[in-house]
Amino acid sequence: MPKNLFQIAKSKKIKYFLISFVDLFGVLRSKLVPAQAIKEMQKNGAGFAGFAAWLDMSPADSDMFGIPDPDSLIQLPWNKEVGWLASDLWMNGKPVEASPRVMLKNQIKKLKQHNLNMKSGVECEYFLTSPDGSSIADPRDTQSKPCYDQSALMRRYDLIKEICDCMIDMGWGPYQNDHEDANGQFEMNWDYSDCLKTADRQTFFKYMVKTLAEKHGLRATFMPKPFENLTGNGCHAHISVWEGNKNKFLDKSDKLGLSKIAYNFLGGVMKNASSLSAFFNPTINSYRRINAPPTKSGATWSPSSISYTGNNRTHMIRIPDPGRFELRLMDGSVNPYLLQAGVLAAGIEGLNKKINPGKPLHCNMYEESDKYPNLSKLPNELGESLNKITDNKVINEAFGKNVIDSYVKLKKIELKEFNSKEKFDKSKPITKWERQNTLDC
Ligand SMILES: [Mg+2]
Repeated sequence: MPKNLFQIAKSKKIKYFLISFVDLFGVLRSKLVPAQAIKEMQKNGAGFAGFAAWLDMSPADSDMFGIPDPDSLIQLPWNKEVGWLASDLWMNGKPVEASPRVMLKNQIKKLKQHNLNMKSGVECEYFLTSPDGSSIADPRDTQSKPCYDQSALMRRYDLIKEICDCMIDMGWGPYQNDHEDANGQFEMNWDYSDCLKTADRQTFFKYMVKTLAEKHGLRATFMPKPFENLTGNGCHAHISVWEGNKNKFLDKSDKLGLSKIAYNFLGGVMKNASSLSAFFNPTINSYRRINAPPTKSGATWSPSSISYTGNNRTHMIRIPDPGRFELRLMDGSVNPYLLQAGVLAAGIEGLNKKINPGKPLHCNMYEESDKYPNLSKLPNELGESLNKITDNKVINEAFGKNVIDSYVKLKKIELKEFNSKEKFDKSKPITKWERQNTLDC
């Protein structure tokens, strides 16, 4: 029996529900529904006009419905009257194939056919800026190596503590908060879990951080590169695949602690990385973070080539501990559902074809990339990754050609609009268009 939201509202004193969904561009959209109407909405969903969101629909299409997943319910810790729900989009009695949460659930089902499920954790980095986003919020945060700066961290204690208290309240198991490598940049970590739960939580986390920052008179941005001379906002993900309670990525007899299936899965991720950059680095601004020159702190902490290694942060994939790997390609503008869905689609190809990723490289890739001229480079700009994903048969099959066509079509419209006003040049300052269109990603 699914949980009864009407009863839950009564017992938890929830007055309103936010029935939400995320579109292809990662925009979080909702309807605010009074608890007295939730019975009907739980069954038939909240109605939306698909054309009004980034889903490649037409104004003539019939209504689509967000059917809430009661397992995703979060009572807003700062306003307990409101319950947030992630929903799956349906239209004409069928799931909407281009709905990112549906895309992820379809990949989860495919991995389930191998009797496996993916767990993941994400590291969300963000900047705290002035309300207009033009400068970092703390004028005293000026160190050239500001990572872990205690004073700068504690000047934001009130906000960081409020966010962390919320995560404790929601039972996410937060375990550390720090000042990151750029002036004005922070990161907060909570426990890994099943990939659908992590995607729902990341969606909510971004909303929560932006909302609470606003309450403190600040602005939080997950924009990949809001300041050209500073380290960008990454969104690294830690991946493992499980059969029941057994981590199938773990093999203690291996030098780096990974099993054969972990290497195959990783091989699939490497093979498809350039194409998936269209999902993982989805904004024009994303390409200022990857393939970028060193920042003020001395390193970008982001990859340029497709390579993997042990515990070494200069490569695209790092194996920090036995039983998992860290993919460092994604940035703060990534759609939380397409992050997990993309990793799954690529990893499943790796499993099916037993892809061998080759030997790990143990060099400082930021200094020695010249020694490896045959390594594939990551795309240099959005148009390049859109072309790669269009041509990638496996990714087209995994999500459906129509879905990939829709995604590419919408992104190319965005690119065309940008190109009519600006020129993308990494050696030049960040454009006004990038700021206006990416600060709230
Ligand atoms: Mg970090």
